[in-house]
Amino acid sequence: MGQRQMRRGAISIQRVLDSTAEAHRRYKRKYMRRWRADPHSCERELHTRLRAHLARRVGPMYGERRLYLNRQRRPVCGFCWHRRPMKLQERLRISEEAGNEFVKVLIPCCGEC
Ligand SMILES: [Zn+2]
Repeated sequence: MGQRQMRRGAISIQRVLDSTAEAHRRYKRKYMRRWRADPHSCERELHTRLRAHLARRVGPMYGERRLYLNRQRRPVCGFCWHRRPMKLQERLRISEEAGNEFVKVLIPCCGEC
């Protein structure tokens, strides 16, 4: 008898949890629907996605030059890491892919280094 009562209690707790979760889900759905309907947030979302896409897809295409970007993703001099690059400086670097031979690499330089 006592066991049956406990089971009933557990079921009602489960029901409350289910309805709470369902209410929360409904709230989230409604919130997102409202958020998407706002053209301002839609535009902001597009910009965020575009920025992420450019960072992921376009960034690596620069290859070596990608390394000479500061935190704001602006190009910096590859020697002082401070000033804006004005020209590209040729340097020789050992390349494992080319059988440990020297290969020319272009490093952005501010012109004062
Ligand atoms: Zn420099």
